[in-house]
Amino acid sequence: MASLTLDRLRKVFSSEGDDGIVAVDDVSIDIEDGEFIVLVGPSGSGKSTILRLLSGLEELSDGEIYVDDTPIGDVKPKNRDVAMVFQNYALYPHLTARKNMSFGLRMRGELSDEEIEQRVDHAATIMGIEELLEKMPNELSGGQQQRVALGRAIVRDPKVFLMDEPLSNLDAKLRTTMRTEIQQLQSELDVTTLYVTHDQTEAMTMGDRIAIMNHGELQQIATPLEAYYEPANVFVAGFIGSPS
Ligand code: ADP
Ligand code: MG
Repeated sequence: MASLTLDRLRKVFSSEGDDGIVAVDDVSIDIEDGEFIVLVGPSGSGKSTILRLLSGLEELSDGEIYVDDTPIGDVKPKNRDVAMVFQNYALYPHLTARKNMSFGLRMRGELSDEEIEQRVDHAATIMGIEELLEKMPNELSGGQQQRVALGRAIVRDPKVFLMDEPLSNLDAKLRTTMRTEIQQLQSELDVTTLYVTHDQTEAMTMGDRIAIMNHGELQQIATPLEAYYEPANVFVAGFIGSPS
């Protein structure tokens, strides 16, 4: 468990001959230990880039990230205490569910095989996927694959969960079920979570606070009710108020 601080994060993607795209522009957010923040905004507003900066998949152009009070901007991805869950599940197709879940820990090389298997079994129990562990990803439904992906995140025992539109490939009914599951999981494990969505319903129902992005800039961070009743600007009013 940990607090997570985004301190004036900036990311510019540049290619030769242009000024570059400012994907994330001076974004600061203080996330408390155990808090669930939903990062919401239209397509292209910089949400995924923020998660990729936090997980170390992209390098910062400026700013710093702190887990508790430790800066992690220069720490290698595999050594950051963060676990990321993606929209497309990103399971290794040639590995069983069990091996998908244990792979990252084996790569880290800190735990014995026995300890790793214990963690996998524990995570499988939490996610209710004990019966699926020996199956290959292509034998699993979308919802089952996402449960395995969540299990793989739990196995790492991270300080921070990062989730990038984890439910948007699921049908509406399953999405509702999984929404509740993720909320329960987060409150049981009490892991600091940054959850990205472009879905207003998810934003309004899931988070302790929502952070609203547009064009790489943070527009407002507030409780869902505050954002709804006291929007910081016209963009927030339109975005939160409009039907999804
Ligand atoms: P979101 O997740 O909110 O849809 P992204 O973070 O994916 O937004 O993208 C923010 C902006 O950065 C967009 O303009 C996108 O085209 C640009 N972008 C993202 N990744 C790259 C990249 N690797 N190279 C160049 N531009 C990128
Ligand atoms: Mg995205």
